[in-house]
Amino acid sequence: MISQAASLLKKHYGYDKFRPMQAEVIQCVLDNKDALVLMPTGGGKSVCFQIPALILPGLCIVVSPLISLMKDQVDALNSNDIPAAYLNSSLSSGEEENIITRCLQGQIKLLYISPERMVQEMNRLLKKLPVHLFAIDEAHCISSWGHDFRPEYTQLKLLKEHFPAIPVIALTATADKTTRRDIVKQLNLPSPEIFVASFNRPNLSLSVKAGIKPKERIKDIISFIARRKNEAGIIYCLSRQTTEKVAAALRAKGIKAGCYHAGLPGEERSKTQDDFINDKLLVVCATVAFGMGIDKSNVRWVIHFNLPKNIEGYYQEIGRAGRDGVDSDTILYYNIADLVLLTKFAQEGNLAKINLEKLKRMQQFAEADMCRRKILLSYFGETPQENCGNCDVCQNPRKHFDGTILVQKALSALMRMGEKVGTTMLIDVLRGSTKGELIEHGYNKIKTYGAGADVSFANWEQYILQMLNLGLIEIAYDEGFTLKVTEPGKEVLSGKHKIDLVQPQVKKIETIEPAATHKSKRELHAESGAGSNLFEALRKLRKQFADAEKLPAYIIFSDATLREMASEKPLTEEEMLAVSGVGQHKFEKYGQAFLTLIHEMCYGISAKAPKASTYEETLQLYKQHFLPGQIALKRNLSAATIYSHIAHLYMNGDITSIDQFVSMEEINHVKTTLKSIGKVQKLKTVFDFLNGQIDYHKIRLALAYLEKNGQYSEVNN
Ligand code: ADP
Ligand code: ZN
Repeated sequence: MISQAASLLKKHYGYDKFRPMQAEVIQCVLDNKDALVLMPTGGGKSVCFQIPALILPGLCIVVSPLISLMKDQVDALNSNDIPAAYLNSSLSSGEEENIITRCLQGQIKLLYISPERMVQEMNRLLKKLPVHLFAIDEAHCISSWGHDFRPEYTQLKLLKEHFPAIPVIALTATADKTTRRDIVKQLNLPSPEIFVASFNRPNLSLSVKAGIKPKERIKDIISFIARRKNEAGIIYCLSRQTTEKVAAALRAKGIKAGCYHAGLPGEERSKTQDDFINDKLLVVCATVAFGMGIDKSNVRWVIHFNLPKNIEGYYQEIGRAGRDGVDSDTILYYNIADLVLLTKFAQEGNLAKINLEKLKRMQQFAEADMCRRKILLSYFGETPQENCGNCDVCQNPRKHFDGTILVQKALSALMRMGEKVGTTMLIDVLRGSTKGELIEHGYNKIKTYGAGADVSFANWEQYILQMLNLGLIEIAYDEGFTLKVTEPGKEVLSGKHKIDLVQPQVKKIETIEPAATHKSKRELHAESGAGSNLFEALRKLRKQFADAEKLPAYIIFSDATLREMASEKPLTEEEMLAVSGVGQHKFEKYGQAFLTLIHEMCYGISAKAPKASTYEETLQLYKQHFLPGQIALKRNLSAATIYSHIAHLYMNGDITSIDQFVSMEEINHVKTTLKSIGKVQKLKTVFDFLNGQIDYHKIRLALAYLEKNGQYSEVNN
């Protein structure tokens, strides 16, 4: 069964192997058991029910809460040659009938449907259709504990009553245990297998920038974007007004930015969403309402303009970056004003206690002086041993110092002012400001007035945040946001404990204009290895197909797939099919166009006579006894390319022997390796497996030898 699943994964999706948990989940569903799957966004949940749908007879019904997502997912499936359709209010009755007929005739493998419709049809249509699996996507919507509760979902509990024998697979990216238990309970699943994948997303960089004022944040963001030409991103803001302000500031610099919040008319919102999906808008400034309805896999960065309310929300939002697995960046800005405002909101709600606790954890994350990923994952119940190396703390370890005296100065000033002031006044007093209000109150007469003049305002803000985090002070929201000294704070004041503070980070606000041609790490990387020109050209070709078919570009090929094409530079059908994400159907539709482009870009020859002439040229030089390295120099190509020509010429019979380039011993080594790997792999897989013991070009030649001499099929079995 599982080997059938693996070959379907290759054939339809073009992927070589399953991601963690996918195979186990598929096996469970095929064994006719219910499953609950918890995987982070981008973890690859869809494959978990789509492949069983292909293997099982009849039809899989997929319940999905968002109409916009249904269309995207069905388009993506169809582009992989998997027959799928959806039923929702956007269809005419004629279109609906047509789809139902096709379902009845067994022509559809996956039918997407909204929860409302599902409930209506439970006793009608669903009873007539050959259903063999139910998939409940975004299953956390069923739980009133979760953050996206949808009352329609609760009716899904009838599913097991109506169809006790049909397996149900529920999927979500929400990890918390309460929601998990609630999903199982609400869906009435008697004893489901529960799969929890790691929530680590190593391709996302994590960074927090504290104490930067909103105006400076905008400058910082503009230069961040300037370094990321053509890369799409989302900026989450706390208020509608901020989304508009930030978007306007970006547009003023020529950046294609839109904004999205609940106050805008529905039409405008869906246009913004569509434009983002179709790469017409590069940036969307949004309140949290944005993002759930999109599957765009090539969002390259996510910025939080303000501190999020809790870690769950933060994690979901940054999770919208890098779903294709390519390195992506996330930045969180915050300062004390964010914290004050959010605390006020949290207190006003009816779940004040929980919300305040969650905000506290969020704040602790933002203030962390240890690997941020460790903190994040420990929140979700995982305990990674190693520091991640891909967060701002790992890259810039924090320095501690004995801050007892500083803290005592602040606490003492607070006490002397009768705990009646807020942060700004406290800092002004410590720094010896001469503001009118300060003098009026006579705060310039207290003993600690000016005692902290050597510390900048911004740094004092940082220290006060740390004091809040350490529980030495608290904010009295019901008394005009004044600061109060806590019991532990009083103990520090009386000299009972020492306090360690973390040195504030030196703030670097960059000011690169969008017009400047600075390059991102990714771009530089691409250039050094694969040639970003080729990547850009591949992107353009993808866009042409996308426009012609009215599909989002990432449905044609993901960024990850294009990157691999740009670095592997496939020359033949087999090599193109070995690229992750190029399945049979997509190869047939687009493969030749992409191959031709790669030939043109890499060998500078016209599309009409690509292969023959470049191979011929290498052959002529070879016949004149030039060595591959010399041919490469003469032709201004890489040696790797010349070796691939030699492999091709050898296969073609133009060259009769390659034993001067690769030894029999090496060929046998590759053969044994292939036997243990099992099936035909791409060069890199073999190379990695051998830990680089055998050069790339030799592996290529060895494969050619094995194939030519009929030993390849032997390997395959
Ligand atoms: P989720 O629903 O969990 O957020 P998706 O199912 O949308 O994630 O998958 C995220 C991305 O990963 C998609 O582009 C998908 O095609 C890709 N993907 C899924 N499974 C694999 C795999 N086994 N190998 C490589 N890419 C995969
Ligand atoms: Zn780290």
